[in-house]
Amino acid sequence: MRAELHSHRKEEIGLLIETFLRKQLKLKAHTVTKVEETERYMIVHINRLGRRLLRCGVCRQRCRKVHSVRKAREWRDLSMRKLPLKLRYRPRRVECPRCGLRVEDFPWAEPWARVTTALSNAVARLARELSWQGTARQYGLNWKSVATIVKRAVQYGLRHRKRPPVRVIGIDEVSRRKGQVYLTVVYDLERRVLLWVGDERTEEAVRPFFTKEMGLRRCRTLQIVCMDMWAAYANLVREHAPNAQILFDRFHIVKHLNEAVDAVRRDLWRRLTAKERTTFKGTRWLLLKNPWNLTGNQKERLSTLVQWNTPLVRAWYLKEAFQLFWDYKQPWRAKQHLTKWIHSAMRSKLEPFKKFAQMLRSHLDGILAWTKARVSNGAVEGMNNKIKSISHRLFGSRTAENFIAAIYHCCAQLPLPVER
Ligand SMILES: [Zn+2]
Repeated sequence: MRAELHSHRKEEIGLLIETFLRKQLKLKAHTVTKVEETERYMIVHINRLGRRLLRCGVCRQRCRKVHSVRKAREWRDLSMRKLPLKLRYRPRRVECPRCGLRVEDFPWAEPWARVTTALSNAVARLARELSWQGTARQYGLNWKSVATIVKRAVQYGLRHRKRPPVRVIGIDEVSRRKGQVYLTVVYDLERRVLLWVGDERTEEAVRPFFTKEMGLRRCRTLQIVCMDMWAAYANLVREHAPNAQILFDRFHIVKHLNEAVDAVRRDLWRRLTAKERTTFKGTRWLLLKNPWNLTGNQKERLSTLVQWNTPLVRAWYLKEAFQLFWDYKQPWRAKQHLTKWIHSAMRSKLEPFKKFAQMLRSHLDGILAWTKARVSNGAVEGMNNKIKSISHRLFGSRTAENFIAAIYHCCAQLPLPVER
């Protein structure tokens, strides 16, 4: 009597779990028949519910005819407390009026996935924050499964993402292996979202952004393209978006300017005596700092420095004078300032500055565009830092393919598959 009651209770609880799972999985044409607990998994057995119509796995059309039943397949799902769930089901092949003989559609998973959409979305979300290894550990998977999930999520996201018109873009490069291999990234500077990542930074590698990602129609809305003075990028813009204004990025220009100061400093260093070098040491940053941020002691060191070597003083003043360019509101004044500056840089007898001035001269239009446009890739500086941290996180697995997938995954705001 007692044993009977006990087994009756157990059956009831089992039924509760099955109903719970059926509801959670939102099954309509399927049902949970049994939940089996093994040492490592909870196995949820699924079967077709009566004669309800199944859908085609390709077009999701309801199909009247079931052709055959295949052997059981399993899908990893989220865990129930500590036990990971597995769904087990024998897929049907259906006769779709449109597609012919196809495997049915699974409401819990994407067609070829080995894990449920709920699990893969949970993994994908965590992989935006953690390394692939770290994510794998959290879900008891190996990192390659995480890589597969992320790549699938990216493919899905790229197919389904919104594509509003793009007007202002920034093209930048990121190094994949310290200064050896470069990727090209393209941002929408207004929405601050990544649009595209390309392997390499050559004309050929970046062309697909204009021809495939943007296409003829979308290229027409482009108004400003912000970039470094890199011929490959400029050529592509002239070819594919001739109406867009090329704007050479402020931060890149300042970087080149600082490199010129640095080159003058290094040249001097080579010519100093050993004693002079001791005082000179560690002054590089004094010259790169804004003068109004220097403390009294720093100003003193700077003035000793200045007394010794007039080339460095000239370099320093040239640098400061150049920086005024960014504040002009009227284009003609900005142009006047820049022309004068280039002139004095050319007469400065400082080779690095002459080179810098020549570079400005041959890119003048795209530099002067700043005064009106006033945008720079600085708007997405946070994104560039994020890419750097992604690069660190990927350490062992940083192939171009993985790196590109991870960048899209973390910076492009891609939608994840819908959990049905
Ligand atoms: Zn179909």
